[in-house]
Amino acid sequence: MSKYQYTSTQPSETTDFAKRMAQLLKPQDVIALEGDLGAGKTTFTKGLAEGLNIKKTVNSPTFTIIKEYNGTLPLYHMDVYRLEDSNEDLGFDEYFEGNGVTVVEWAHLVEDQLPKELLTIYLKHGDHDTRTIVLEPKGKRYEELCKELFS
Ligand code: ADP
Ligand code: MG
Repeated sequence: MSKYQYTSTQPSETTDFAKRMAQLLKPQDVIALEGDLGAGKTTFTKGLAEGLNIKKTVNSPTFTIIKEYNGTLPLYHMDVYRLEDSNEDLGFDEYFEGNGVTVVEWAHLVEDQLPKELLTIYLKHGDHDTRTIVLEPKGKRYEELCKELFS
Protein backbone atom coordinates (compact mmCIF):
# COMPACT_ATOMS: atom_id res chain seq x y z
CA MET A 1 0.00 0.00 0.00
CA SER A 2 1.32 3.46 -0.85
CA LYS A 3 1.78 6.09 1.78
CA TYR A 4 2.11 9.79 1.29
CA GLN A 5 3.50 12.22 3.79
CA TYR A 6 3.45 15.94 4.35
CA THR A 7 5.06 17.90 7.16
CA SER A 8 3.23 20.95 8.44
CA THR A 9 5.06 23.44 10.64
CA GLN A 10 2.11 25.65 11.55
CA PRO A 11 -1.70 25.51 11.58
CA SER A 12 -2.01 27.51 8.34
CA GLU A 13 0.09 24.92 6.52
CA THR A 14 -2.30 22.21 7.61
CA THR A 15 -5.33 24.18 6.46
CA ASP A 16 -3.63 25.12 3.17
CA PHE A 17 -2.82 21.49 2.52
CA ALA A 18 -6.44 20.52 3.24
CA LYS A 19 -7.67 23.35 1.01
CA ARG A 20 -5.66 21.94 -1.86
CA MET A 21 -7.10 18.50 -1.22
CA ALA A 22 -10.62 19.93 -1.19
CA GLN A 23 -10.22 20.94 -4.85
CA LEU A 24 -9.82 17.27 -5.76
CA LEU A 25 -12.72 15.89 -3.75
CA LYS A 26 -15.84 14.39 -5.25
CA PRO A 27 -19.26 13.40 -3.93
CA GLN A 28 -19.13 10.24 -1.79
CA ASP A 29 -15.48 10.59 -0.89
CA VAL A 30 -14.79 9.44 2.67
CA ILE A 31 -11.87 10.66 4.75
CA ALA A 32 -10.94 9.05 8.07
CA LEU A 33 -8.96 11.29 10.42
CA GLU A 34 -6.82 9.77 13.14
CA GLY A 35 -4.58 11.33 15.75
CA ASP A 36 -4.45 12.31 19.41
CA LEU A 37 -6.44 15.16 20.88
CA GLY A 38 -4.96 18.38 19.56
CA ALA A 39 -3.20 16.68 16.67
CA GLY A 40 -5.09 18.82 14.17
CA LYS A 41 -8.01 16.75 12.91
CA THR A 42 -10.50 19.59 13.28
CA THR A 43 -7.97 22.11 11.96
CA PHE A 44 -7.57 19.93 8.87
CA THR A 45 -11.36 19.74 8.50
CA LYS A 46 -11.58 23.54 8.71
CA GLY A 47 -9.20 23.72 5.76
CA LEU A 48 -11.31 21.29 3.77
CA ALA A 49 -14.39 23.39 4.54
CA GLU A 50 -12.65 26.54 3.40
CA GLY A 51 -11.60 24.80 0.21
CA LEU A 52 -15.23 23.81 -0.37
CA ASN A 53 -16.29 27.45 0.06
CA ILE A 54 -18.17 26.76 3.26
CA LYS A 55 -18.73 30.05 5.04
CA LYS A 56 -19.84 28.73 8.41
CA THR A 57 -17.20 28.08 11.03
CA VAL A 58 -16.45 24.41 11.46
CA ASN A 59 -16.00 23.41 15.10
CA SER A 60 -15.53 20.12 16.85
CA PRO A 61 -18.98 18.68 17.07
CA THR A 62 -19.25 18.25 20.84
CA PHE A 63 -22.68 16.82 21.47
CA THR A 64 -23.74 16.33 17.93
CA ILE A 65 -21.88 13.49 16.33
CA ILE A 66 -22.60 14.66 12.80
CA LYS A 67 -22.72 18.16 11.38
CA GLU A 68 -23.60 19.04 7.84
CA TYR A 69 -22.30 22.10 5.98
CA ASN A 70 -23.17 23.41 2.56
CA GLY A 71 -20.52 24.51 0.10
CA THR A 72 -19.37 23.65 -3.42
CA LEU A 73 -20.08 20.15 -2.14
CA PRO A 74 -21.86 19.33 1.10
CA LEU A 75 -19.48 18.39 3.92
CA TYR A 76 -20.55 15.86 6.51
CA HIS A 77 -18.31 16.31 9.54
CA MET A 78 -18.40 13.55 12.13
CA ASP A 79 -16.54 13.25 15.40
CA VAL A 80 -17.26 9.89 16.95
CA TYR A 81 -14.99 10.36 20.00
CA ARG A 82 -17.92 10.66 22.39
CA LEU A 83 -19.99 7.96 20.83
CA GLU A 84 -20.82 5.61 23.68
CA ASP A 85 -21.87 2.62 21.70
CA SER A 86 -19.79 2.16 18.58
CA ASN A 87 -22.27 -0.40 17.29
CA GLU A 88 -25.11 2.06 17.37
CA ASP A 89 -26.34 2.51 13.83
CA LEU A 90 -26.07 6.23 13.14
CA GLY A 91 -27.25 5.89 9.59
CA PHE A 92 -23.78 6.59 8.23
CA ASP A 93 -24.62 4.96 4.92
CA GLU A 94 -26.96 7.77 4.06
CA TYR A 95 -24.01 10.15 4.22
CA PHE A 96 -21.59 7.89 2.37
CA GLU A 97 -24.16 7.51 -0.39
CA GLY A 98 -25.09 11.18 -0.41
CA ASN A 99 -23.89 14.06 -2.57
CA GLY A 100 -21.19 15.24 -0.24
CA VAL A 101 -17.83 14.47 1.25
CA THR A 102 -17.67 12.72 4.63
CA VAL A 103 -14.93 13.39 7.18
CA VAL A 104 -14.78 11.22 10.29
CA GLU A 105 -12.60 12.15 13.28
CA TRP A 106 -11.55 9.12 15.37
CA ALA A 107 -12.75 6.90 12.55
CA HIS A 108 -11.25 3.67 13.93
CA LEU A 109 -13.88 3.74 16.69
CA VAL A 110 -16.53 3.00 14.08
CA GLU A 111 -14.35 1.06 11.67
CA ASP A 112 -17.01 -1.59 11.08
CA GLN A 113 -19.44 1.02 9.86
CA LEU A 114 -17.08 2.64 7.35
CA PRO A 115 -16.71 1.82 3.68
CA LYS A 116 -13.81 -0.46 2.79
CA GLU A 117 -12.36 2.09 0.43
CA LEU A 118 -11.46 5.41 1.98
CA LEU A 119 -8.60 7.77 2.63
CA THR A 120 -7.12 7.53 6.11
CA ILE A 121 -5.14 10.54 7.27
CA TYR A 122 -2.98 10.28 10.39
CA LEU A 123 -1.90 13.48 12.11
CA LYS A 124 1.04 13.15 14.46
CA HIS A 125 2.42 15.70 16.89
CA GLY A 126 6.03 16.64 16.35
CA ASP A 127 8.07 19.27 18.17
CA HIS A 128 6.27 22.55 18.79
CA ASP A 129 3.78 23.18 15.99
CA THR A 130 5.06 20.50 13.68
CA ARG A 131 2.59 17.88 12.52
CA THR A 132 3.33 14.93 10.33
CA ILE A 133 0.41 14.19 8.06
CA VAL A 134 0.40 10.66 6.68
CA LEU A 135 -2.08 9.66 4.00
CA GLU A 136 -3.02 6.03 3.48
CA PRO A 137 -5.33 5.56 0.52
CA LYS A 138 -7.43 2.41 0.30
CA GLY A 139 -8.83 1.82 -3.16
CA LYS A 140 -8.11 3.15 -6.62
CA ARG A 141 -10.07 6.37 -6.22
CA TYR A 142 -7.99 7.44 -3.22
CA GLU A 143 -4.70 6.26 -4.71
CA GLU A 144 -5.39 8.58 -7.61
CA LEU A 145 -6.42 11.41 -5.35
CA CYS A 146 -3.12 11.16 -3.45
CA LYS A 147 -1.08 10.89 -6.63
CA GLU A 148 -2.66 14.05 -7.94
CA LEU A 149 -2.25 15.89 -4.64
CA PHE A 150 1.46 15.06 -4.51
CA SER A 151 2.20 15.50 -8.20
P1 ADP B 1 -8.01 17.60 17.06
O1 ADP B 1 -9.27 17.82 16.29
O2 ADP B 1 -7.12 16.57 16.43
O3 ADP B 1 -8.26 17.32 18.51
P2 ADP B 1 -7.61 20.43 16.72
O4 ADP B 1 -7.50 20.71 15.27
O5 ADP B 1 -8.88 20.75 17.42
O6 ADP B 1 -7.15 18.92 17.00
O7 ADP B 1 -6.47 21.23 17.49
C1 ADP B 1 -5.16 21.31 17.02
C2 ADP B 1 -4.47 22.44 17.77
O8 ADP B 1 -3.09 22.44 17.47
C3 ADP B 1 -5.03 23.78 17.37
O9 ADP B 1 -5.05 24.61 18.50
C4 ADP B 1 -4.01 24.28 16.36
O10 ADP B 1 -3.93 25.69 16.29
C5 ADP B 1 -2.73 23.71 16.93
N1 ADP B 1 -1.66 23.50 15.94
C6 ADP B 1 -0.38 23.90 16.09
N2 ADP B 1 0.36 23.59 15.03
C7 ADP B 1 -0.45 22.97 14.15
C8 ADP B 1 -0.25 22.42 12.85
N3 ADP B 1 0.95 22.44 12.24
N4 ADP B 1 -1.31 21.84 12.25
C9 ADP B 1 -2.51 21.81 12.85
N5 ADP B 1 -2.77 22.31 14.08
C10 ADP B 1 -1.75 22.89 14.74
MG1 MG C 1 -11.33 17.50 16.77
